[in-house]
Amino acid sequence: MLVTGVKTFRTGLRFALLFSLLPTTSTNLLGKAPARVPASARLTISVYNDAEVPVDVMGRAQEQAGRAFRHAGIEVTWLNCRVPAVSEEASRTCREAVFPEHLHLRIVRKSLGLKGETLGISFQGEDGSGCYADLFYEPMEQLQKSDGADIASLLGHVAAHEIGHLLLGNNSHAAAGIMHAHWTTEELASARVGGLAFLEKESRRMRARLATATQASKEGPSTAARIPARTGD
Ligand SMILES: [Zn+2]
Repeated sequence: MLVTGVKTFRTGLRFALLFSLLPTTSTNLLGKAPARVPASARLTISVYNDAEVPVDVMGRAQEQAGRAFRHAGIEVTWLNCRVPAVSEEASRTCREAVFPEHLHLRIVRKSLGLKGETLGISFQGEDGSGCYADLFYEPMEQLQKSDGADIASLLGHVAAHEIGHLLLGNNSHAAAGIMHAHWTTEELASARVGGLAFLEKESRRMRARLATATQASKEGPSTAARIPARTGD
């Protein structure tokens, strides 16, 4: 993972998403949501709100991200994980990480080691698998101030972008849509009204990955990639 560039906004502030290596290109327009979501296309996301994002902002962000995935034929269940957890069972459920069907998002104020304009990062192995992504809230607040971005919408779309990386594997940037590496001012405006979406080929790829994993789980628990939580909370 590395930062390969930044987008300059009209205010002069520079922001970028962190992404994996070579970008892919696509000119496809947005795909249509399938009529129904098959049982296999289900995704659980544990969310750790270390940045203390207000509850209403978090709710709207999850709505936005959920809509983008629903459009791609994937139904998301959000687990808002508290530390300490309300019960041992809640703690256990939140900590579980199973690639690719149970992923983790952690929202922190800012990155300790990355450029200040980075909005999010996903952690993937060389084989393209990984369960964890971090989102950085402070640069989103700056974008809200400088460009009038709707912060809930922005948070939701950055969440969808990083989860998209986890589901799509390495080299998963596109020329347009949610997986675009550098969102333009116009795309930010689209994000504000929930207009960014996954491309059809991305949607197919994510559904196929989830379906393959579900099939592997059915064939035996040993074939599912169970990954322990990164932290002990
Ligand atoms: Zn990216």
